[in-house]
Amino acid sequence: MMLLTKKMIEIRSLLQTVGQSDALTLPSIVVIGSQSSGKSSVLEAIVGHEFLPKGSNMVTRRPIELTLVNTPDAHAEYGEFPALGLGKITDFTQIQRTLTDLNLAVPASECVSDDPIQLRIYSPNVPDLSLIDLPGYIQVTGRDQPPELKEKIAELCEKYIQQPNIILAISAADVDLANSTALRASRQVDPRGERTIGVITKMDLVDAERGASMLTDKKYALRLGYVGVVCRVPQSQGKLFSRGSGNITNAIAKNEDAYFSSHPAEFGTETTIEVGTKNLRKKLMYVLEQTLAASLKTTSEAVQGELAEATYEFKVQYNDRPLSAETYLAESLDSFKHSFREFTEHFGRSEVRELLKYELDQQILNLLASRYWNKPLEDLSPPLPESDPLSGLPKADPDNQLWRLKLDASTASLTKLGIGRLATTVVANALQGHIDHLINTSTFGHHPFARQAITEASTAILKELSYDISDELEICIKPYKYRIDLEDTEWSRGRENIQKTLKEELRSCEAAAKHVESEVGGRKKLKDVMGFIDRVRNGQVVLEGDGRGGAGGFSSALLEKGLEGVFLRDRADILKLRLMAIKSKQCANKKNKYFCPEVFLDAVADKLTTTADLFLDAELLSKFYYIFPRELDARLGRNLSPTEIERFAREDPKIRRHLDVVRRKELLEHVLKEMEGLRQLEAREKRYASRS
Ligand code: GDP
Repeated sequence: MMLLTKKMIEIRSLLQTVGQSDALTLPSIVVIGSQSSGKSSVLEAIVGHEFLPKGSNMVTRRPIELTLVNTPDAHAEYGEFPALGLGKITDFTQIQRTLTDLNLAVPASECVSDDPIQLRIYSPNVPDLSLIDLPGYIQVTGRDQPPELKEKIAELCEKYIQQPNIILAISAADVDLANSTALRASRQVDPRGERTIGVITKMDLVDAERGASMLTDKKYALRLGYVGVVCRVPQSQGKLFSRGSGNITNAIAKNEDAYFSSHPAEFGTETTIEVGTKNLRKKLMYVLEQTLAASLKTTSEAVQGELAEATYEFKVQYNDRPLSAETYLAESLDSFKHSFREFTEHFGRSEVRELLKYELDQQILNLLASRYWNKPLEDLSPPLPESDPLSGLPKADPDNQLWRLKLDASTASLTKLGIGRLATTVVANALQGHIDHLINTSTFGHHPFARQAITEASTAILKELSYDISDELEICIKPYKYRIDLEDTEWSRGRENIQKTLKEELRSCEAAAKHVESEVGGRKKLKDVMGFIDRVRNGQVVLEGDGRGGAGGFSSALLEKGLEGVFLRDRADILKLRLMAIKSKQCANKKNKYFCPEVFLDAVADKLTTTADLFLDAELLSKFYYIFPRELDARLGRNLSPTEIERFAREDPKIRRHLDVVRRKELLEHVLKEMEGLRQLEAREKRYASRS
């Protein structure tokens, strides 16, 4: 039958991982006793090692759920704190230190905590048992202890000694049983003494006759009886073993045997009295097994109930959809790759072209502004008939070399801009931006880990590709650095396009001016301050100082805004003027390119774009579209460990809940099957016992 306890202890740990509900708690042996009653000594005698926190101050502040696992074929003895993940601890003094630390972590103001410490001890020398050690009862509160400590300990113990737990009530022989706090507490919850085992410690401290009479006490009669023990480790042995190196069970047993056999009349085999730690161990094993067997039915019913609930939740909330972390990841990855494929169908050469053209348009605007549109503005057009609307403008000399130089320099600025790097970066950034967007709209949006993995994948690929591509592209556009021939059609396309660009620029200038207007508090105010600035510029007004502290009755902040307004107005004026010039007949012919630098530069940009978009489409897009999904498979598929996959899936709270329900259901099914097996085993053994 020993199998039952072992199995049930396994089931207990399984149930603990399901999430504790009271109905699913299997009975344990709860150890209570006053401080110094010898409680720790009893537990250590059972385990065979000193491992419990010691000290004059109350050190046990949390319950210790102690699971002893008998490992008959192993030599090593070790402990494990499953919640801490510290691994196997073979040094019992280290277990002692860890327990002390865990206890001391409870703030003194809280006194005690009901959050149990789980400790498992594996050894060929321990029986399969599950015990809960509780803080010892105290009589009086010490000076440095909170006054409510006594109450709190009593409350904590009371919580644990409820049904169906077995109570191990420790009392010292040198204290009158009537004064035993442990027995008094157990009586409260177990008045008929049906699930309490009495342990009388320090039998060596009273005379044998008195000791023996305590063990047959009728006043506090217990159905499971009393066991008398002498748990003190003999001095010489204690020193030897206190470093946690050896097992103290035999030393204690020897000492006990010597004591009890020296009083054969009181404790001899003739008597019905039970003494010795060995017997206590046997008794605990027997009683726990009986209790566990008795609880089999109720517990498996409780498990069934929980299972029914989990099954219902699974059905109703998740439509019976089985889910594992692996399938969740695989599905998420598939759908992400699908949306990526869709994206690739809509992001090709013409999208690249648009991006690049926009970028170059901005470059052209900057060039024009710095080289041509400075004040005072000189008109670039050749002399015009009086009837022409532009004829009123100041004229530039068309034969002046300056205009040739200007255009050549501007064209060179454009072609030597580093188009290779610029275009590659613009497209790579756009791709990265789209990937970010795809992540955000996919299930991976909720997963920091996957998000990072995908972003890293795309940035790494793009970086790697960009390096060579930008150089190669630079080589492709090299011819334009030396000579640019334009067809008539290219010229007229440039003329049309630059008008659009300038109109767009004009619109943003006007919008910005409106914004400044609202910032200063109206058109009139802005006009006033701009008027003042104009007068200063024309020399009509002479500023005293540098105007930083304000001038002309305007604050410096207002003057700042005024300058902005003047800039935008001038820019808009120039744009309007240039738009008119471009629309005029002069700019219809490419021969007049020196007077129409806007058109020329636009046509050049168009040529550059055509080369770049073709190249980038073939080199950057196609390669990225090929490599990226494969990289995803590697980073989010093959290369992940099961733990990483699980961690990934659990990042999403909805999935976590779903996985929990699935897992809970599977676990409960497993537990139920195990329990059914145990029940059948038990029934068979009963039948067998009744027959023989
Ligand atoms: P706890 O506070 O209830 O855990 O008690 P301990 O196990 O720490 O024991 C308190 C004191 O009693 C210690 O000094 C032990 O050495 C001593 N002690 C424990 N068991 C026995 C025993 O059977 N005989 C004698 N003489 N002393 C014991």
